[in-house]
Amino acid sequence: MKRILDNIINDSRDSANTGKVADYIPELAKANPQALGICVTTLDGKEYYAGDYDTKFTIQSISKVITLMVAILENGAEYVFSKVGMEPTELAFNSITNLETSPQKRPLNPMINAGAIAVTSLLNGKTPEDKINTILNLTRKICENDSITINEEVYRSEKATGNRNRALAYYMKSNGIFDGDIEEILDVYFKACSMEVTCRDLARIGAMLANDGVLISGERIVSRDICRIIKTIMVTCGMYDASGKFAVHIGIPAKSGVGGGIMAAVPRRMGIGLVGPALDSKGNSSGGLKALELLSREFDLSIF
Ligand code: GLN
Repeated sequence: MKRILDNIINDSRDSANTGKVADYIPELAKANPQALGICVTTLDGKEYYAGDYDTKFTIQSISKVITLMVAILENGAEYVFSKVGMEPTELAFNSITNLETSPQKRPLNPMINAGAIAVTSLLNGKTPEDKINTILNLTRKICENDSITINEEVYRSEKATGNRNRALAYYMKSNGIFDGDIEEILDVYFKACSMEVTCRDLARIGAMLANDGVLISGERIVSRDICRIIKTIMVTCGMYDASGKFAVHIGIPAKSGVGGGIMAAVPRRMGIGLVGPALDSKGNSSGGLKALELLSREFDLSIF
């Protein structure tokens, strides 16, 4: 396994070189575009690594999976999906267009920025601190890693420049999609995106989802039904407007983030975490996509 992963990473480095590090959040521009790493966690707890697997990066949009999980745990799926849709989009993850054209002006799904901001507005805590602590603690628990923290530089950088997300939030508020203090909601969203992880942490999240809500330790975190909903939405929406192509070529429920991470869950087999900060035009890790494609082919991982 180790040798196969080493080869996959080596064979994916050229693809990583075709991508570009995200710079619309200035702090992300400091990432190493050449870094490329993978961790595979099988459901019996074995971990396999290759490449730059110890690179730290911010979780970014992969946090949308955790936030959705918290919102469903706190409010139930029916209520959450009365506020946000479950349909894929052909537009970019930060697009504002659908907020005007979609039915009821709801965000199309929880994996794009507008949808995740709306989901964040549903969290129960009294203060923004309570809400981010719930997200952070659940992430630590799933990853079995108490040292996960928020990268303050990335958080501040996004807060200072996140005017597109502010625009999405104000637009949704004007349409009555949610109530509440926008800066407070965005603060929770920006902090959730700024949690710093490695590909091992992502592999653990994937393994929990692959195992229908049960950690490697045997502890149940969420119900099988919540995992089913989340994995389905990952398949249809997790790679944004590249989700269809991803499903055809790779065929694994997955979620990406502009920090360069990809988290993937192969039902009943394994969790996969990848890092490669150089992104393609859709905001997905170029090298990560290539490595996942090679891995999927090698082990016949497509669920279809
Ligand atoms: N924090 C990022 C943003 O809001 C997350 C986007 C992403 O990872 N695609 O733009």
